[in-house]
Amino acid sequence: MRAIRRFTVRPVLPEPLQPLTQLATNLRWSWHPPTQDLFAEIDPEAWQAVEGDPVRLIGAVEPARLDELAADSAFVRRVEQAAAGLATYLGEPSWWSRNVEEPPGSIAYFSPEFGVTSVLPQYSGGLGILAGDHLKTASDLGIPIIGVGLLYKHGYFQQTLSRDGWQEETYPVLDPDTAPLSLLRETDGRPSLISIAVPGEAPLWARIWVAAVGRVPLLLLDTDLEENAGELRAVTDRLYGGGGEHRLLQELLLGVGGVRALRAFSRITGTPAPEVFHTNEGHAGFLGVERIRELTVAQDGPGLDFDTALEVSRAGTVFTTHTPVPAGIDRFPRELIEQYFAGNSPVPGAPVDRVLALGAETHDGGDPAVFNMAVMGFRLAQRANGVSQLHGEVSRSMFNGLWPGFDEEEVPISSITNGVHAPTWVAREVFELASRAGADVSSDRPEVWDVADHVSSEQLWSTKRTLRERLVEDVRSRLRTSWRQRGAAPAELGWIDSVLDPDVLTIGFARRVPSYKRLTLMLRDPARLKALLLHPEHPVQLVIAGKAHPADDGGKRLIQEMVRFADDPEVRHRIVFLPGYDIAMAQPLYPGCDVWLNNPLRPYEACGTSGMKAALNGGLNLSILDGWWDEWYDGSNGWAIPSADGIGEEDRRDDIEASALYDLVENEVAPRFYDLDADGVPSRWIEMVRHTLKSLGPRVLSTRMLRDYVEQLYLPAARASRTLSEPARAGEFAAWKRRVRDGWDVVHIEHVESHGVADSAEIGSSLQVAAFVSLGELSGDDVAVQLVHGRIGPDDELVEPRTLLLGVGESWAGGRHRFEGSLSLDRSGPFGYTVRVVPRHELAASAAETGLVRIA
Ligand SMILES: *Cc1c(COP(=O)(O)O)cnc(C)c1O
Repeated sequence: MRAIRRFTVRPVLPEPLQPLTQLATNLRWSWHPPTQDLFAEIDPEAWQAVEGDPVRLIGAVEPARLDELAADSAFVRRVEQAAAGLATYLGEPSWWSRNVEEPPGSIAYFSPEFGVTSVLPQYSGGLGILAGDHLKTASDLGIPIIGVGLLYKHGYFQQTLSRDGWQEETYPVLDPDTAPLSLLRETDGRPSLISIAVPGEAPLWARIWVAAVGRVPLLLLDTDLEENAGELRAVTDRLYGGGGEHRLLQELLLGVGGVRALRAFSRITGTPAPEVFHTNEGHAGFLGVERIRELTVAQDGPGLDFDTALEVSRAGTVFTTHTPVPAGIDRFPRELIEQYFAGNSPVPGAPVDRVLALGAETHDGGDPAVFNMAVMGFRLAQRANGVSQLHGEVSRSMFNGLWPGFDEEEVPISSITNGVHAPTWVAREVFELASRAGADVSSDRPEVWDVADHVSSEQLWSTKRTLRERLVEDVRSRLRTSWRQRGAAPAELGWIDSVLDPDVLTIGFARRVPSYKRLTLMLRDPARLKALLLHPEHPVQLVIAGKAHPADDGGKRLIQEMVRFADDPEVRHRIVFLPGYDIAMAQPLYPGCDVWLNNPLRPYEACGTSGMKAALNGGLNLSILDGWWDEWYDGSNGWAIPSADGIGEEDRRDDIEASALYDLVENEVAPRFYDLDADGVPSRWIEMVRHTLKSLGPRVLSTRMLRDYVEQLYLPAARASRTLSEPARAGEFAAWKRRVRDGWDVVHIEHVESHGVADSAEIGSSLQVAAFVSLGELSGDDVAVQLVHGRIGPDDELVEPRTLLLGVGESWAGGRHRFEGSLSLDRSGPFGYTVRVVPRHELAASAAETGLVRIA
């Protein structure tokens, strides 16, 4: 029999235990081990059974046990103390309140996935984990961020293996009533709903769940409502589930619906409205279109015109691009966008041709039939960044076509390297070790890491062993579960008791399985890998995990290849593939590994963060110089696998890189690990661990990342947005852009004269330059005429050029001007220059703001 209706009966806690409700629903417990301990104590067995989920624990404990605890004054006191501790955390003065003047009211952070804790499985991999770490860190630092995402009924998927190693997916339902979420309600108690017009009669409705991530609210939109007809109910069914139209509906909901949800949230709770909108990857890009719509409809007076609204919205928008892999960028058929935005548009009033133009691939090689979400992201955000220095470079090159006429270095995409949230990812034992040695582990001053020098080698080594041993136990238990699930009988599984060895060098490799991450590179020469695993004196053991996207059969084949290798009785005690990679598996995995392996196809790993988490736990990275590792590898904080990235032929490249990997493990990594001194400690290894902690610790933290975002992007965006919130300023800026665009065709440099140096010059001599420029209708104040100068490369191109602003010397009728200036030559060697004209305005964020340029 099926129930015709369902609801959830919430447990009632005895009065003295009621503070547990807030302790369970505020996700701060997920990075606060003492709160976890408190819950575990309520019922250790139930705590295991609910996989460390406080809300489910409260529902699972017998009422008699709760009454018993309510009568236990020592326990009640601890509950009160924990609640007081949370209240202090939520209210205490923060980095933000101490450091930021004239702070923006709030900052909205949009992301298609959020990986906060494994009990809220709303993530697929690094992008989501990063978003989770971003919110937690914002909470720690007191940054007034509001997260915006979707609540997927089935999350991503749960991964299991078939008998022969093929990935299988299941989609358990997440019941929001038993999750750490509360429904946003209007003051009269009804759920607050938002709607979006979509083709057809009925709009798309969504309710808004709120997760409390410490001080930070996370709004999650959910379409699983009776109000929604048919298909529309399933818009938020799965993360990255459907393609095409389903994906577009999700992204409209996230972007357009997300802004509407923020408005409802502010209205109901009184939270100040966001002044900055940050889109984590392009999926939420429609938020810019919705903000333009808001500004174009009359509020107290006439609304703004589209261009003016675009400038206002752009000034406060930040776009972070996350991948140089084309498949990671959403592209919709232009016709589909047309179908949605003409007629019954989600953003009524925004002309469909203007919307289409925002996502048009106008660059060389672009596809006119496609609407590109990344391209729209750049057009709708005045500030954009990549997620490591290398990825910044790669992105500037990749998107250079959107700013033709500008050299790569001037493409307005900066970079902020990702970081990780230490309280989530660093093992307790590591924090305790540092505290015992006198460090203030709550501080994020770089000097804190000097503590690595004050911990004895023996202590460090024995802590690593403890962590390795814990990992070995976790691996065995997960492997047993997986084999039972694959159909093995318990009696066949005795061998699992001796899988892995807590004294063997342990290498971890866990990540999603897109092809560029090359899960199976280590299998390139299976005999060689086997020899490394079974080495008589210096064996290594490998823990491997990762999910392939359900539609990616190629990825599933890689997993199967890996599983088949690991199933071999000859090596299965030294190599395991664990299904179901998630936060819960990752937390003991990083600390338990001695070495963290990463071998992507350079430069496709935009940043990578798992290696950072390993490093914070004293793991050494062994990685291709890609993403963050390209930036911070210093020659002695780990190993660089030489990359053959000049070689186009993939097979040969894989051969070369795999063989370099085997060599490194065999000749450098393993011998060092097993080289014990008289005290039984591998002192040269420990030296590297210390150096890793000191060199990487201060850099890889998400507190560093968040401060960078605040200083380099959020505050400048908030300032720009405030300036433009005066409609006259915005209108003037938009009109200026229009005027410059309209008048640009006739702008040209007639000729350039120079004096002071002939064919050769000495250091210190001065070069006088005069450029005769015709500006047509534009004035000398509308443009910057620049002398662009620098060293000369082999093809006469300027290498790392610098610019000198030329001033107006004389003007003539017909818009002709002489611009002039002089430059003192301060570097020897081949030197060259040119002159260019770019539009100039104080509200522009870079010389490339309009994309217009004229070069001599
Ligand atoms: C950190 C983390 C990732 C991201 O790892 P990358 O190195 O960026 O690939 C993915 N999944 C989980 C569970 C993580 O904790």
